[in-house]
Amino acid sequence: MDRLFEIINTVKKSFTFTAKNNFSNLPGIKGLESSTKHLAREALSLSLDESLNTIFRQLLSDFDRFDALEVPLKKKSVEAGLLLLSQAEALLNDPVFARSGEEAFAESVKRLSTPMQYIKGVGPRLSLLLEKKGIETVGDALYFVPRRYEDRRMIKRIAEVTVGATETIRGHVSMAGVVGYSGGRKRVFEVSVADGTGTLIAKWFHFSEAYMKRRFKKGQYVLFSGEVKRYNFQKEMHHPDLEFIEPGEEEGWEFRGIIPIYSETEGLYQKTVRRIMKRVVEEHAGDAVDGISPVICKRQHLMGFAEALKRVHFPDGGDSMNDLNAGSSAAHRRLIFDEFFFLELGLALRKRGVALEDGNSYSIKDKYTKKLKSILPFNLTLSQEKALAEIMADLKKPHPMNRLLQGDVGSGKTIVAFIASLMVIENGYQVAFMAPTEILAEQHYATIEPFAEALGLRVALLTSSVNNQDKKSSYHKIAKGKVDITIGTHAIIQDAVHFLKLGLVIIDEQHRFGVMQRVMLKKKGKAPDVLVMTATPIPRTLGLTVYGDLDSSVIDQLPPGRVPVKTKLYHERNRELVYHKIAEEVENRKQVFIVYPLIEESEKLDLKNATHMARHLREEVFPRYTIGLLHGRIDSKGKEQIMAAFQLKKIDILVATTVVEVGIDVPNASLMVIEHAERFGLSQLHQLRGRVGRSDYPSQCILLAQYSASDDARRRLKVMEETTDGFRIAEEDFAIRGPGEFLGTRQSGMPDFRIANILKDVKILSEARKEAFRLIEEDPHLALPENRVTRLVLGERWKGRLELATIG
Ligand code: ADP
Ligand code: MG
Repeated sequence: MDRLFEIINTVKKSFTFTAKNNFSNLPGIKGLESSTKHLAREALSLSLDESLNTIFRQLLSDFDRFDALEVPLKKKSVEAGLLLLSQAEALLNDPVFARSGEEAFAESVKRLSTPMQYIKGVGPRLSLLLEKKGIETVGDALYFVPRRYEDRRMIKRIAEVTVGATETIRGHVSMAGVVGYSGGRKRVFEVSVADGTGTLIAKWFHFSEAYMKRRFKKGQYVLFSGEVKRYNFQKEMHHPDLEFIEPGEEEGWEFRGIIPIYSETEGLYQKTVRRIMKRVVEEHAGDAVDGISPVICKRQHLMGFAEALKRVHFPDGGDSMNDLNAGSSAAHRRLIFDEFFFLELGLALRKRGVALEDGNSYSIKDKYTKKLKSILPFNLTLSQEKALAEIMADLKKPHPMNRLLQGDVGSGKTIVAFIASLMVIENGYQVAFMAPTEILAEQHYATIEPFAEALGLRVALLTSSVNNQDKKSSYHKIAKGKVDITIGTHAIIQDAVHFLKLGLVIIDEQHRFGVMQRVMLKKKGKAPDVLVMTATPIPRTLGLTVYGDLDSSVIDQLPPGRVPVKTKLYHERNRELVYHKIAEEVENRKQVFIVYPLIEESEKLDLKNATHMARHLREEVFPRYTIGLLHGRIDSKGKEQIMAAFQLKKIDILVATTVVEVGIDVPNASLMVIEHAERFGLSQLHQLRGRVGRSDYPSQCILLAQYSASDDARRRLKVMEETTDGFRIAEEDFAIRGPGEFLGTRQSGMPDFRIANILKDVKILSEARKEAFRLIEEDPHLALPENRVTRLVLGERWKGRLELATIG
């Protein structure tokens, strides 16, 4: 072992010397090739570990014919050599590697799963409290990152604190108790502390009296930290963090530097958590295995994993308080990178896995596709052509496609999906096309059926309102291969549906489906190609995470002649003006949508409901116009009739709930009025707006809002006024709502990160993704010895937690 270190050091020295001052010594260096090769061979002869051997073999081959190289290549070789040496060093230093990898790794996993009860000072009572915080094992505890940090060297005298700043003070309790304000109706718990230079009052507005009285005693020595406020001449802190100081305690480590402040629960206090954490970190941080190779660490300037775990809890004096409190210290960065890296590594593997799976390969026959283009009443946009070309290229490959097609409402995704279907059908396969709602499925059917008929293809519609007899007959035909395209809702994934030869699965508005539903549809065929479509553009970060294993095509162009929809915000008091606009459109032989958030009156929410308003408009406001009503409670026959009437211009104004959100295509509709716009999410507003502006006639969208709208709501409405760019809207929506809500309540597939935040840490995310995909590119099965630990850690990380992350 020692000789190996010697070898590494010797070679390193000569390389460092060579590289010094921008390689100024390089011209004078002689014999670097032979000495390096000689030492590398010796190292190999000492052969210990396959991973080390790989490194030295690499070194040997890099320096083979070094002397004959051009200067720039020489420089490169030396730099690469230095990297290899640091890799070798790290391996030698790694205790896991000193023993057999798997065994040591299992041991580490076992040690990290030690229950908290085994930590000295943690009894049954504390371990229950810790459990409430999600901390059951020492591994959980290591990831229980401080909420903030406090620099105990910066404790201020009360006279010196700055109002508005977050400060830490200490002093004796001079008074503690409940004070009544506003005639005793508002009760506040107040604690005065004095330190000889002044007095500060801590106030609690929410408290349990008995509990607070028990905690605070006159004369006690306490430490408060929080934002300093001033009320008249009195300095105050509201709900400060606090700690009781026992005699002599100020001599200890907790008063000598930056300390962590954790989130607390009743009965589990700062000091206790901190002391437990200190023990856990001291005893167990070293058990954490570093899964990221030294090469990547170096390239990304990452500190060691165990070191990061230590430093995130107990920073050293050199860490900046600002970085720490912003969660952007070097330690934080390493841990965040780590989480993203292993997520992305899993995605990269899966993507490659699908790419290598056996699938169907279709050839271009142009039997139907050519004919379709000749009967289509329009030309595809450039953007559509491009997306189609990408899809076609996938379909030709002998591996399953796994592609996401993004495009704003009205961008023409359906026709692209249909043309792709034709290619699959030409090759003798069937297509399943699943949409989230009946209306949408019916509309796709209505769009596709006439073309299909002209081409002599057979289409079936499967929704829950198709009668049993028709359903049975469709099942039969699908199973016999007598149907080419099956369009439907969830009804397609029923057990009774069997395809003879399913080649392509298309899922529209895929975010409305759960992961399992997508998988079920896929399972109806043998490794079918999958095309998922969405009109809700995927924010970039989600494209990198939840959808990180899909290929992506974007239609970012609307069919020609479309005029962007003008959007304007109106307040309730201008309702008359809005009615005037509606009348104007109808007088111009145009049609209007009015959308409401609810179907039934709810006194509590005070929302005008669609039913009530439809009557009001019909009877009192627009007695001369035809007014239709569409909502979720109407059965699908009824809905169909209403939609048909609207399409045929027999209805001037369609009052509706959000069932019109997706898919309805009535080019003559030119005004969309959204009532209670403040209650809708951004993506939903964007979808609704997409129902108009589907012709060359200029359309408008009116957002009617209440004054009581929240800040978030106002921000949403402003975004709507400012832009029609779906991608920008998606990013804003995502920023306002966060990943969980954005993706909806269904199993969103969003992994829960322990430290990382995909909104805040997006830069680290893309770096981590780059490295992960690069690694899989270089070593597709993580089979190389130097990636052994990475592979083990990956297996551990993906176990359970991330399983649902990505099923296309
Ligand atoms: P999406 O599903 O992306 O919201 P659709 O596929 O429903 O959009 O298309 C919206 C409308 O635009 C449909 O009526 C469709 O026939 C029409 N359309 C699609 N592509 C074009 C095109 N290239 N030129 C003109 N109209 C088009
Ligand atoms: Mg669509």
